[in-house]
Amino acid sequence: MAAGVRPNLELARRLGLHCERGIVVDSLLRSSRPEIFAAGDAAEHKGVVYGIWPAAMEQGRAAGINMAGGRMEYRGTTVANRLKVAGIDLASVGEIDAENRFRAEVEETETVYKKRVYDDDDRLVGCILLGDISDYGAVAREIGEKGTG
Ligand SMILES: Cc1cc2nc3c(=O)[nH]c(=O)nc-3n(C[C@H](O)[C@H](O)[C@H](O)COP(=O)(O)OP(=O)(O)OC[C@H]3O[C@@H](n4cnc5c(N)ncnc54)[C@H](O)[C@@H]3O)c2cc1C
Repeated sequence: MAAGVRPNLELARRLGLHCERGIVVDSLLRSSRPEIFAAGDAAEHKGVVYGIWPAAMEQGRAAGINMAGGRMEYRGTTVANRLKVAGIDLASVGEIDAENRFRAEVEETETVYKKRVYDDDDRLVGCILLGDISDYGAVAREIGEKGTG
C-alpha cells in the first residue's frame, strides 16, 4: 500500500503563496509570488506533486538556474520507480494506464509480468515490469527521452 506524499504548507500559506496539494509553481518554478521559488516535494507543477528524488533534482536544478538569473524551463518528470518487495523485483515507468485507455502489450508467465503501454502515435509511454526488470534502464531511457513526463 502506498499512502502518497503530503507537503507541510504552513509556511507557504503564511506567505500567501497559492497552494493546492503543494505550492503551485509555473514552468520556471516560480510560486504565485515571483520572487519565491519552490521545488521538490513541496512543489506542485501542472497539478502534480511528484514526491520522488528525480523530480526534486530536476526541479531544484531549474529553480536554482532561474533564481540566479538564467532561464531553464521545467517540463515535467517521467515518473519511474524500482523496488524489491519480498524478493520480487518491481519497476514502473511513465504511463501505466490503469484505466486501459491505450494499447498495451502484456507478457505474462508464472513468475514474470510485463506490460508496455503505447500512445495513439504508437510511442512507448510507460511500462510495468514485475519479476524481471532487466529491461528497466533501456525502457526508462526510451520513455524519458521522448519527454512524456
Ligand atoms: C523513507 C523514504 C524513502 C524514499 N525512497 C525514495 C526512493 O526510493 N526513490 C525516490 O525517487 N524517492 C524516494 N523518496 C522521496 C525522496 O526522498 C524525496 O522526493 C526527495 O528527498 C525530495 O527532496 P526535497 O529537496 O524536495 O525535500 P527533502 O529531501 O525532504 O529536503 C528538504 C530539506 O529541508 C529541510 N527543512 C525543512 N523545513 C525547514 C525549515 N523550516 N528551515 C530550513 N530547512 C528546512 C529539511 O530538514 C530537509 O533537509 C523517499 C522518501 C522517504 C521519506
